[in-house]
Amino acid sequence: MEDLMSVGVVGAGVMGIGIVQVAALAGHPVKLLDAREGAAAAAIVRLGDTLATLVSKGRLAADARDAALARIEAVSEVAQLAGCGLAIEAIVEQVEPKRTLLRQLEAVLAPQALLASNTSSLSITLLANGLSRPERLVGMHFFNPVPLMRLVEVVSGAETDPAAAAQVEALARAWGKQPVHAASTPGFIVNRIARPFYAETLALLQERAAAPEVLDACLRAAGFRMGPCELMDLIGHDTNALVTRAVWEANFGDRRYQPSLIQQALVDGGRLGRKSGRGFFVGPAPRWPVVQRPAAALPITLVGRGPNVEMLVRRLPGVARESTEAGWSGLRSGSLELAFTDGRCAYEAGRPLMDWLAHEQADALGVTTDDAQVADLLACAGLRAMVLRDTPGLVVARTLAMLVNEASDAVWQGVCTEEGADTAMRLGVNYPDGPFAWRRLFGAEALCSLLDHIWTQTRSERYRISPPLRAASTSATPCKP
Ligand code: NAD
Repeated sequence: MEDLMSVGVVGAGVMGIGIVQVAALAGHPVKLLDAREGAAAAAIVRLGDTLATLVSKGRLAADARDAALARIEAVSEVAQLAGCGLAIEAIVEQVEPKRTLLRQLEAVLAPQALLASNTSSLSITLLANGLSRPERLVGMHFFNPVPLMRLVEVVSGAETDPAAAAQVEALARAWGKQPVHAASTPGFIVNRIARPFYAETLALLQERAAAPEVLDACLRAAGFRMGPCELMDLIGHDTNALVTRAVWEANFGDRRYQPSLIQQALVDGGRLGRKSGRGFFVGPAPRWPVVQRPAAALPITLVGRGPNVEMLVRRLPGVARESTEAGWSGLRSGSLELAFTDGRCAYEAGRPLMDWLAHEQADALGVTTDDAQVADLLACAGLRAMVLRDTPGLVVARTLAMLVNEASDAVWQGVCTEEGADTAMRLGVNYPDGPFAWRRLFGAEALCSLLDHIWTQTRSERYRISPPLRAASTSATPCKP
C-alpha cells in the first residue's frame, strides 16, 4: 500500500473513534488526541474490541485488523499532530472550544495541511473566523455510527477554498463514503431538510389529528423505516428539540422551523424517549398485524388519474376505471366515494378523504372516516385504514410536500444540488426516496396545490411555497436556481 498522509483526530468520543476506525482501515496512519487523560488510549482499546468482533464474524481479515491497529497512536499534545496532512476535530459541540482548538492545530500543521470539523450544527464560516488560513477549514460531517453510515456532508464556509473542499470530498470517497457538498447554512442538508418530518407530525399531534402510533403507522407505510414519534423517542426529545431550536434561531425565528409545544412539554416533563424509559411510547411502539383482504371482491371503480391512482391500479388489477375529468381522484363503490387528499379538508371536498400512497409496499393508509365500508375497500388493496381527524393535507401527503418544499428552498438558496439533496436524505437518514424523486413522482402542481390548500386553512407562513417549486408547477420549464 502506498504511503498515505497521516490523519489527526481530536476528540475520542463516539464520532472521533469512528473516524479513526474508517481512516485507519483505509490505510492512513492516525493520531488520536483527547483533552481527558487516558481517553484516547481507552477509545483505542475499545476499537480493538470492535475490530475483533468484526474479525470473528468474518467481516474483516485478521491481518487487516492488525495493520489498522498498528497505524493508530494515542497522543497527548496538539504539537504531536504536526506532521498530519489532515486534522479532524470531533470535540464538544461548542463554538469557543472548537475555535481555540482549530487555532492551535493551525499553528502546528504545515501550511498545505487541511483542517476539518465534524460539527453537526455550527457554522463553518464562524469556526474559520480567527484562523490565519480560514480557506483550509472544511466541514466534514460524518453520521453516527461512522463506520456504517455512508454519507459525509462536505461543508464549505464563506472562506473555504473549493480546492480544499474537493480534496476532502476525494478523501471521503477513498474511505468508502459518499460525500455530498453543502454550503454552510443552518442544519447543512440533512438536519435542515429533515425538519418537517418531525415538525409536521408534532403539528398534527397538536391539531389532535391522531395518536402517535397512528401517525407513525402512516409514515412507515410511506416507506420510512421508523415513524417520526418512535424516531424522536430514539434520538431523545431533548436532542431533537435542541437541533430544531438551533435551526430556528439560526434562521432568526423563521416560522418554517418553529419548535413544538408538544415536544417542549415532553422535555419539560422528563419524557426524553428511550433514554429516560418513556417518551411518546413506553417500550416498543405499537404495530398492527397485516390487514386481511375480504373474502369476496367488492365493486370498485378507480376515478381520475395520477400516481396515487396508478399505485391502486397495481394493487387492484382488473378493476374498473373512470378516467374522465372528475375533478378528483380516488375510488368509488356504490354511493361511496373516497378521494385522495388535495390539501382541502373533507368538509370542503364534499367526500371523505384518504392520504397519498407513496410506497408500493404500503400496508396502511390514513382516512378521514371510520366507516367500516371504507376499511373493507382499502383492505381489498391490502391497506389498513388508519382513522384520522379531518386535517388539511392529512399525514403522508403533507409531510412529503413539506420535505419537497424544504429541499426546493435549499437548492434554490445554493446549499446543495437536487441530486445532492436526494443522496443526502437517502444515506444520511435512510429515507426511502429523495425529495426530488417525490417531486417527480407527485408533480410540482399537485404538491403546490396541496400546500396552498393547507395554507388557506392555517394561514401559517410555514406552508409558504418555495419559488422554484411554484415555478415548476406553473410552467413546462422548471425555474432553475
Ligand atoms: P462525545 O461527547 O462522545 O466526545 C467528545 C470528546 O471530545 C470527549 O471525549 C471529550 O473529552 C473530547 N473533548 C472535548 N473538548 C476537547 C478539547 N478541547 N480537546 C480535545 N478533546 C476534547 O461527542 P461526539 O458525539 O463524538 O460528538 C463530537 C462532535 O461530532 C460534535 O461536534 C458533534 O456535534 C458531532 N457529531 C455528533 C454526532 C452524534 O450522533 N453523536 C453526529 C454527527 C456529528
